[in-house]
Amino acid sequence: MLFSEVIGQENIKTQLLKAVQQNRIAHAQLFSGKQGVGKLPLALAYAQYLCCENRTDIDSCGTCPSCRKMAKLAHPDLHFVFPIVKVDKKTICDHFVSDFREAILENPYLSVTDWLNRIADEKQGMIYTEESHEIIRKLNFKTYEAPYKVMIIWMPEKMHNTCANKLLKILEEPSHDTVIIMVSDNPDMLLTTIRSRVQNINIPPIESIAITQSLKTDFSISDAEATHIAHLSLGSYSAAKGLIVQSEKDQWNLTQFIQLMRFAWQANYEALRTLTETIEKKGRESTKSFLTYTQYMIRENFIFNLQIPELNYMTEEEQDFSKKFSSFINERNVEKITEELQKAEQEIEQNVNRKVVLFDMALKFTTLLKK
Ligand SMILES: [Zn+2]
Repeated sequence: MLFSEVIGQENIKTQLLKAVQQNRIAHAQLFSGKQGVGKLPLALAYAQYLCCENRTDIDSCGTCPSCRKMAKLAHPDLHFVFPIVKVDKKTICDHFVSDFREAILENPYLSVTDWLNRIADEKQGMIYTEESHEIIRKLNFKTYEAPYKVMIIWMPEKMHNTCANKLLKILEEPSHDTVIIMVSDNPDMLLTTIRSRVQNINIPPIESIAITQSLKTDFSISDAEATHIAHLSLGSYSAAKGLIVQSEKDQWNLTQFIQLMRFAWQANYEALRTLTETIEKKGRESTKSFLTYTQYMIRENFIFNLQIPELNYMTEEEQDFSKKFSSFINERNVEKITEELQKAEQEIEQNVNRKVVLFDMALKFTTLLKK
C-alpha cells in the first residue's frame, strides 16, 4: 500500500517517512488508536516504504519488484499475525493467510469483527499459543530480499498469554533486521511488559475533510451528505462506511413502508402481493429489519399526532410522509398493528414462509388502517 492510498493522517505519514529517512527505525512499534482510523493501512504503507528499492521523500515508488509484491501483500519478508477462530484444529495464521490477504486487499479498514465473521460465525478470535513457534521460526529466517523482515501483528491484545510471553523474549533482544509492528484497537489490554518494550505511536482520528473526500470517491453521494457522514463518523473510515450502508437500508425501508401503507389503505391486493414478494426476496435478515423499522414508524406516527417535536425522532423525509399519514394511526389501531408486526417478526424468526406471513399481515392492515 502506498502512503498516498492511506486516507488522511498527514502528520503520522510525515513522522513515519522521517523516521525511515533519518534511519531511526524502532524494532518494535505499536500503532494504537480507535477502530477504523487506518492503523493497518499505515503499517502496510510503512512496511512497503521500508522495503522499497526506489523510495522518494514522500512515498514508495510503487513499481519496483519489492513494491509490486508488497501491493499484493505477498512479499516473502512480510509476515502477518492476526486473530483466528479454531476450525478443524487449525490454530496458526498460515492456515488463514490467503483469506486474510484477500480481505485486507478488499478493505484495509476492515474491523476485527468483520474479519472473524468472514472466516467463521464466531465472534471471539484468538492468536493461539501455537502461533508463538511460528513467530519465532519466521523471525529466525534470514531476510530473503528486503533489508528488513517486517512482522505485522494485528490485534496483539487477542494473544494467548503463553504466546504473549514468548513474544516478550523476542522484544527483549530483537535482531537488527527485524521490525515488528503491532496494530491495536485496545492497547490497554496488552501486557504492560510488552507495552513498555515498544515504541507507541498513537494514531488519531482521520481528519474530517479527508473522510469527506474519500466518501465522495468511493460512493456516489452529494457533498453535503459526505460532509455530514464524515462528521458523524468521528474520524473512523469504517464507521463512515457503516453509516452509508445503514442510510441506504433506511432509505429502502422507508420506500417499502410508504408503499405498504398506501396499498393497504387502497386495499390494492395485487400491489400488496407484489410488494410483499419484493420485501421477502431480500432475505430473512432484511425482512426482519423491515418489520422492526415499520414498528418504529408506526410508533413515531402515533406520537406525531401529539405535536410534541421533542418526542419525535424521524428524519425530515420520514416526517414529510407522516404529515398526512399520521392521522391514520390512532389509539384504536396502534396496538393491534404493532402486535401484527411483532407476530410476523416472530414467525419469520421461526422460519415460517415469509411470503405467506407478509401477505397475511398486509391483508390485516387493509382493515386496521380504517379503524
Ligand atoms: Zn518501490
